[in-house]
Amino acid sequence: MDNASPAFTLQQVEQVKAGTRALDGISLSVPQGQITVLIGPSGAGKSALLRLLNRLDDPTAGKIRYRGQRINDIPVRTLRRRVGFVFQTPVAFPGTVRDNLALAASIAEVPADKIDDRIGSSARLADIDDELLDRPADRLSGGQLQRVTIARALMTGPETLLMDEPTASLDPETAATIGQTIACLSSQRGLTVVMASHRIAEAKELAGHAVMLDKGKVVEAGPATQLFESSHPRLRAFLSRVG
Ligand code: ADP
Repeated sequence: MDNASPAFTLQQVEQVKAGTRALDGISLSVPQGQITVLIGPSGAGKSALLRLLNRLDDPTAGKIRYRGQRINDIPVRTLRRRVGFVFQTPVAFPGTVRDNLALAASIAEVPADKIDDRIGSSARLADIDDELLDRPADRLSGGQLQRVTIARALMTGPETLLMDEPTASLDPETAATIGQTIACLSSQRGLTVVMASHRIAEAKELAGHAVMLDKGKVVEAGPATQLFESSHPRLRAFLSRVG
C-alpha cells in the first residue's frame, strides 16, 4: 500500500467515558508515513482518540479502519505489534535497559536468535548510546528513559507509533532532541506517527499533518503548513493563547 493511502480513517467516531462525551462525531483521515500531530486544549479528546487507534479502548459508536481494514477485524495482538504506543510518563521495568527491551521482545514474540539484533537496532533508532544498555533503567534521566520507552515500542517492528505527549515531562532542550529522533523515525524509516502535543513549537516543527480537537470534535485538520496558517477563529484563539 503506498503512502497516499491513509493509515487510519475514522467515521463518525464517538467515545463516552464515565458519562462524558470525550469524542463526538470524529471523521478523520490520518496519512501514512508522516507525523500527524493532535493539538487542542486539555480535555479536547487527544488521548481518548489515540487510545482507540490500537484498541486500548473501543469507541461507543462509529467506524475505524487501519490501512483499509476494519480495526476490529485485526487481532488485537497483531494490531498492537503493528501500532505501538508511547505514553506521556515513561515507566522503567526492573533491570537494565537491555532487560527492558528484552521483555518487549518476549511480548512481541521475537525469535530468540533475533533478540540481540532487535535490541541493537531498536536502541539505535531511538538514539540510545550502547553504553546505556547495561545500566539499570530506573537510574536513567527522564529523557533517556523516554528513549527506552520509544525503543521498547520499536521492538515489535511497528509501522505506526502513537505517542501521547511524549515530551511533556521533559525540559525543552531534552524534548527537542526527542523530537529530532521522532522526526528521523518518520522521515528516514517511513514510520507513521500520530502524536498528541501541547508544545505548539514542537507541533509546528514536526507535523506533516495536523488536527485540532476541541470538546471532542475536529475543529480543523489538514497539512500542517495550512492548518497553522488557518484563519479559523477557534484555532487562532487557541494558538494565540498557547503559542
Ligand atoms: P486531552 O488528551 O485532549 O487532554 P482526554 O482525551 O484526556 O483529553 O479527555 C477528553 C474528555 O474525556 C475530557 O472531558 C476528560 O475529562 C474525559 N475523560 C477522559 N478519560 C476519562 C475517564 N477515564 N473517565 C471519565 N472521563 C474521562
